[in-house]
Amino acid sequence: MSKQQQMTREEWQNMAASLEIRNQAFINGQYVNAVSGATFDCESPVDGRILTQVASCDAEDADRAVAAARAAFESGVWRNLAPAKRKQILLKFAELIAANRDELALLETLDMGKPIRFSRSVDVGSTIRTLQWTAEAIDKVYDELAPTAINEIGMVTREPVGVVAAIVPWNFPLLMASWKFAPALAMGNSVILKPSEKSPLTAIRVAELAKQAGIPDGVFNVLPGFGHTVGKALALHMDVDTLVFTGSTGVAKQLMIYAGESNMKRVWLEAGGKSPNIVFADAPDLRRAAEEAAQAIAFNQGEVCTAGSRLLVEASIRDEFVALVTEALKDWQPGHPLDPATTCGAIVDQAQLKRVLSFIQLGQSEGASLVSGGQQVDQTSGGYYVEPTVFAGVNNQMSIAAEEIFGPVLSVISFETPEQAISIANDSIYGLAAAVWTSDINKAHKTAKALRAGSVWINHYDGGDMTAPFGGFKQSGNGRDKSLHAFDKYTEIKATWLKLD
Ligand code: NAD
Repeated sequence: MSKQQQMTREEWQNMAASLEIRNQAFINGQYVNAVSGATFDCESPVDGRILTQVASCDAEDADRAVAAARAAFESGVWRNLAPAKRKQILLKFAELIAANRDELALLETLDMGKPIRFSRSVDVGSTIRTLQWTAEAIDKVYDELAPTAINEIGMVTREPVGVVAAIVPWNFPLLMASWKFAPALAMGNSVILKPSEKSPLTAIRVAELAKQAGIPDGVFNVLPGFGHTVGKALALHMDVDTLVFTGSTGVAKQLMIYAGESNMKRVWLEAGGKSPNIVFADAPDLRRAAEEAAQAIAFNQGEVCTAGSRLLVEASIRDEFVALVTEALKDWQPGHPLDPATTCGAIVDQAQLKRVLSFIQLGQSEGASLVSGGQQVDQTSGGYYVEPTVFAGVNNQMSIAAEEIFGPVLSVISFETPEQAISIANDSIYGLAAAVWTSDINKAHKTAKALRAGSVWINHYDGGDMTAPFGGFKQSGNGRDKSLHAFDKYTEIKATWLKLD
């Protein structure tokens, strides 16, 4: 463990007190205010304190950023660099993020409430990994030659799409952004990043690191602001070629409409989930399965698109398993996010807290039985904290089983047979992720194949790496982030056919 990982809560608080927080848009290599001069309050869910006032961009700022991004793209200053050179610059960008790891982790925690230990290891750590892995791939991805007759040459090449707008959510602000900007930049595009209005700070800060790394002006721009203002303006913009998004299914659908109403820009969506975590009675280790089921709903305060929010348990072990999960959740009680021992931090804002509490209320009124948790806590802090909550006796039609809550609320549903488990698991508008726990290799594979989800984990929860594609079936989205598959979003394929005499 490095020295920084052992920093105490007081040390993190001292660092926070002297933090200089960047709060402007970043357009064409410069920090600038919104043209209108408007700002919005950036409130910390840790204690309700206003951290800073952030530039509130709108359509005029979108026009300026798109013009800068387009000019940089057309000039070839980035896309025409040798792949090895782009790789070198992106590796430098990763290095600078690593050099500023503590500051970025602290910004993430103050801005959206997650525990500092995870901001540092997961959010910033995985952002570095995303950039490094993607950069390393740039000069190893080859184009294709078509199989042709002797007098022809058919070249199948990838070209950057042009101007990419990336609209991202607040739950893993920098990490979700990096899943978009790393492959987009790697392929030679210009990028306009629109962070969530609930968590804009790390996106704003890394813009200057991108410049410092050598990314030319206009190639990487950041526009903080609201979805219905600057987000909508980007989605409707006639000169944005591709729109990539991570966020809710409702907004994802709206973005498809905006694309249809404007220039038919390509739209790639990572949206919501209601992931089933299926535990058979023959799971190899029930205690470990329970610990991972607890983590699957409490990590990041349940504000995870792949949260294991529907726990499907074989009826014969239901009571034993629910008791084990409840026990395991004792390790996930809310604490101060800057305390390095804290595993569960604050809910992102008051609106989200109210949403979580209203679902807890709804679960009870729909007849589910509240096994543990359910209360708002630490109200005197001024922040937004809620206990991890377990409901048993849930059926798949109840709102708490059908709707994405995006908070630490677990719905336990029991089943009798593998067929019934699969049918309940697939009975959802979503198809982002699923897990299955069993010692029977045949049952494991048959169940995994039958699950309609973009990621399936066997005998663990939330596995994967940059090497594996990530995305959803059904209303969880289209396309894939991570791995070489991510490049599909940021390239057009061109066929060039040459006839020889
Ligand atoms: P959200 O959809 O409310 O907002 C996401 C982004 O879209 C924000 O930047 C917001 O400002 C912007 N936006 C909102 N309305 C817009 C509009 N009309 N036009 C353009 N942009 C608009 O989502 P959220 O609350 O920030 O994040 C939570 C959601 O994200 C959950 O549904 C979660 O499942 C999903 N998510 C999905 C993944 C995934 O990879 N599938 C990962 C993380 C989060």
